[in-house]
Amino acid sequence: MPTNIILLGPPGAGKGTQARKLIEDHGMVQLSTGDMLREARASGTETGQRVAEIMDRGELVTDEIVIDLIRERLADGGTGFIFDGFPRTLAQADALGSLLKEQGQAIAAVIEMNVDDAELVTRISGRFTCGGCGEVYHDTTRPTRTIGVCDVCGSDRLLRRADDNAESLKVRLLEYYKKTSPLIGYFWRDGNLHRVNGLASIENVSSELSRVMSSVPQPA
Ligand code: AMP
Repeated sequence: MPTNIILLGPPGAGKGTQARKLIEDHGMVQLSTGDMLREARASGTETGQRVAEIMDRGELVTDEIVIDLIRERLADGGTGFIFDGFPRTLAQADALGSLLKEQGQAIAAVIEMNVDDAELVTRISGRFTCGGCGEVYHDTTRPTRTIGVCDVCGSDRLLRRADDNAESLKVRLLEYYKKTSPLIGYFWRDGNLHRVNGLASIENVSSELSRVMSSVPQPA
């Protein structure tokens, strides 16, 4: 049975890309609070309207909102979750621990993806995704084979995120170092922190993640 893992790392570290590979290779379920918030925005819910400006500025939305989103998803049951972009604060990490405990579950591994800031800026500034299937591309390092068309699903809905610009990225990185990076120590203390070099190729990072996955104890 798949286990629950957290992908921890700054914006552009490759969390979303690796989550997609884990879904393919291990049948896991991605829980991305960033995607949930973008969906809430697009559907114009009250939460979506409240968080739109905060997201565009690159700041973190309140713990209460994201914890509620995760609580709803966990209440549906299941396991084998990849937490992508959550938790981002100590309060969120505590809340996740309690929510999983209530369901007799736990986090099997926290994988910290390390990438230096200069590379993050390059990655984020050229990033775009397919609005049809979510495949991630980059202007120079991973362009589509045909301009304007997704290689995977053929959609011509290729999107750039409103917060993937130099100004917001500066704030997002600051938020990461100030509020999220303390989680590295938090999870290290629990003994289930694994470090992966996010600068390696997508395939190499993916094999490293699979190696970590096979090394963690499987739930009974
Ligand atoms: P992401 O797609 O993970 O890069 O998230 C995009 C934006 O959504 C972030 O810059 C935050 O504004 C917001 N966000 C996503 N996840 C969280 C979270 N766990 N806590 C607070 N804000 C979040």
